[in-house]
Amino acid sequence: MVSQNVRSVASRGDSQKTMMRILLAPALILALAVPALADCKACSVAKIDGGWCDGCGAGYVAGVKIGSKKLYDALAAKEIKADAMSCKGCKGAYDKNGQCGHCQVGFVDKQAYRSRVAYHLALGQAKDPAKIKCDSCKLAAKSHGWCGGCQVGLAGNRAYKDKQEYESAVKAHEILVAAAKAAEKCEACAVAMVTDGKCQAHDLKFADGKPETEKSKSKAQP
Ligand SMILES: [Zn+2]
Ligand SMILES: [Zn+2]
Ligand SMILES: [Zn+2]
Ligand SMILES: [Zn+2]
Repeated sequence: MVSQNVRSVASRGDSQKTMMRILLAPALILALAVPALADCKACSVAKIDGGWCDGCGAGYVAGVKIGSKKLYDALAAKEIKADAMSCKGCKGAYDKNGQCGHCQVGFVDKQAYRSRVAYHLALGQAKDPAKIKCDSCKLAAKSHGWCGGCQVGLAGNRAYKDKQEYESAVKAHEILVAAAKAAEKCEACAVAMVTDGKCQAHDLKFADGKPETEKSKSKAQP
């Protein structure tokens, strides 16, 4: 009798502990995650889904840290309504995650990207590197790579099943990493790198993330 009583008390205690653990688990994870990653909650989310954190003055695109708001804004998606579009090319591209060559804009999930770099990275599926189980995928997510076992390519934290899309994303990822670094010296150069634009201060025009030499062109012009 006595031993039975003890057992039932013990088992009740166990289930209570389990209950407590279940209740405490989410709170514990949140409490531990913040100091462990030395990150605020907004940054943790942005690292995976992309976004800008005002508090930290930093943003993330495809898992790449961006220290410049100007560069981040050049990469960010703009909400756009189909009714507001007058261009046929845009209307055609809007529903099928395509690009309009005329307007130099790409669409992913009904959002517009002025930057081709951002467009190609937005096409990929956002992954949390901490949750990737396959070792070769995990390694690829640190920079980029194709995992033959999983038949998936990773560029930053974006995953691609289509090899051609993946290859475009690899180029985009390389430009993004270079632009994030360039922004420390000149934000206008960094923006020009991801938008095929021009930095007035340095008189540099960029195409595919690389500076074009303008001299030959300006000579040819009257
Ligand atoms: Zn933050
Ligand atoms: Zn258009
Ligand atoms: Zn894999
Ligand atoms: Zn510049």
